[in-house]
Amino acid sequence: MAATKKLFGEKVDLREKDESNPHVIDDSKDEEKEGKNLEKLMFEDPCYVKVLLDVSEDGITPQSEKSERHKILEELIKDKGEHLETVKTCRYCGEEKVKIFSIRFSDGISTTPEFTCCEKEDCIEKMLSGTKRNSVQIERFQFSVLRKLQRSATNWSDFKKVIELFRWAFGVSWRWDEVRLTNKTAFGVFFQGGRE
Ligand SMILES: [Zn+2]
Repeated sequence: MAATKKLFGEKVDLREKDESNPHVIDDSKDEEKEGKNLEKLMFEDPCYVKVLLDVSEDGITPQSEKSERHKILEELIKDKGEHLETVKTCRYCGEEKVKIFSIRFSDGISTTPEFTCCEKEDCIEKMLSGTKRNSVQIERFQFSVLRKLQRSATNWSDFKKVIELFRWAFGVSWRWDEVRLTNKTAFGVFFQGGRE
């Protein structure tokens, strides 16, 4: 729209800019990211979303007003990404939602829904039964954890397994679930209390 107006020599209406969706990446040099929303990227490249927040914070002074995107990034990284409840129930007690997952190391890593549980000690015990404790890493379903694992990943296919587990836990998996990860379903995870 804006381009058409320029073509005919009219002024570009600044309000048009406000109408662009602050959730959606439309100004990236990275084609992979174009057209995706921040929520979907939380499940694909969470470190990228954090970098966007860092860049927004760098540019802000105490007097300046935060952009809509900056506010959304803050909400995703600092609030929702850390406190969002999963949609899957603990297989051991059948009561609480899963909060914890374990990564098992032997010949690469292995993460499956079987190795997830709620926070209750009993359930954690059951999840860990029969495993050597020193070959298991226990983590929480928080996006800061996902970023930590992305940063430390030596192997992309290993990190993909963790991403897949997160998608499963939040109900937007591509393998174990019927709901696929799209802009819409990812937005639903963060802003509409889970799947649509
Ligand atoms: Zn449980």
